[in-house]
Amino acid sequence: MKAHELLAQIRPTLLERVALRAGRGSEAQSAFRGELERFYSALEGAVESGNPAWLDPALTEWTSSPTLSELHDKKTNVEELLDKFIRVTNDVALENLAEADALDLLTTVTPIYVYALEKIARLETEARVSHVSSELAQTQDKLERLDRSKSAFISIAAHELKTPLTLIAGYAAMLHETIDKATDPQIEVLLAGMNTGIGRLQRIIKDLIDVSVIDNDLLSLNLQPLQLRKLFSQLRAGIEPVLAERQQILRVDEFEGSDAWIYADPDRLYQAFRNLLENAVKYTPDFGRIVVGGRTLPGFVEVTVKDSGIGISPENQTLIFEKHVVSDADLHSSSHSKFKGGGAGLGLAITRGIIQAHGGTIWAESEGYDEVKLPGSTFHVLIPARTQPVDPEIQRLFGPLVAAEEDPDGKENSTTDTPAA
Ligand code: ADP
Repeated sequence: MKAHELLAQIRPTLLERVALRAGRGSEAQSAFRGELERFYSALEGAVESGNPAWLDPALTEWTSSPTLSELHDKKTNVEELLDKFIRVTNDVALENLAEADALDLLTTVTPIYVYALEKIARLETEARVSHVSSELAQTQDKLERLDRSKSAFISIAAHELKTPLTLIAGYAAMLHETIDKATDPQIEVLLAGMNTGIGRLQRIIKDLIDVSVIDNDLLSLNLQPLQLRKLFSQLRAGIEPVLAERQQILRVDEFEGSDAWIYADPDRLYQAFRNLLENAVKYTPDFGRIVVGGRTLPGFVEVTVKDSGIGISPENQTLIFEKHVVSDADLHSSSHSKFKGGGAGLGLAITRGIIQAHGGTIWAESEGYDEVKLPGSTFHVLIPARTQPVDPEIQRLFGPLVAAEEDPDGKENSTTDTPAA
């Protein structure tokens, strides 16, 4: 007897047994029986024609609609079912056919089953990959929506807080003017405390507004010619009291490019580097050392801010630039100078936003976080060495200024109309 005839002979017994072993509930039984019948007919076709592709439609149908729970559990139900089919075929053939016929049949169906197993594995992997990618896309969509509402909340909260804070600051100033400090010397101390609090709140609100401006790609730069050396001497002057308080040393190295005139936004760059320097102070213990250096690269000036502080763990070296508090350290207060003072966690997000708005980039390097060994951190900032302003009017305005400053005798120098890079 031919293999397909043998297969037809054991059909009822085989299907009965597979259905029993699969153990579906009575409601699902008849639909399931229908599927088994279809699969069996395809199997007979494959055996008769010698072409296993006959099974393709049935296998595709089986794998195309797996339930979500199957995908989550990573269970391969179809594979299990096929496995049962193979075992039952063996049993039923050996029990119901003559030994030679059974062998004949099994030799014919085995390669077809192997083909089916491979096909199912491939189809199921594809189904799982597409399921996972669609879940990822949904999660990303949710995250983006969350981020948008967070950003909207930040912006609304900052603007709502700004008005009452302006009122408080105004009344505090009036109080300062009108109160007779001589009658109660304590009043001066109390007012100073109030003003410190107001100042801190004002800075947090300003940071919140900056973050929402950056988030919405609305940061507009006021590009002017500047020299980084000058920017850093202003920064040093601003941060000097804090350095003295913490007994830390700040060294600003002269480097190739620090004297070059580049077009950048001085206020925004000041803000960005102030954040980096304040962090260097905050995350470095007393008596620590901060070094600002740099070099020129093709089209860019690279500035490095290196400290001898607690360092940053590798997993946080990119996360710290996100607008939320990610910290290795156990942070204590919102002070801008205290060791591990912590803060609103917005500083680096703003710094990155400012640098990126310039067309530059920023990253952190550290051997890791260690409060005892103090491996330190280095922040690298690449700023485009723009020698031409975007707006020609700006060039007309600043070109002669730069030339005059570069020429100490005040002589006209036609070649230095534009700042040299
Ligand atoms: P924060 O207000 O918390 O300082 P930032 O955005 O400025 O917010 O910094 C985010 C986090 O990055 C900090 O909480 C700190 O854990 C880490 N960090 C930033 N600068 C340094 C540094 N120089 N050394 C070690 N950790 C740093």
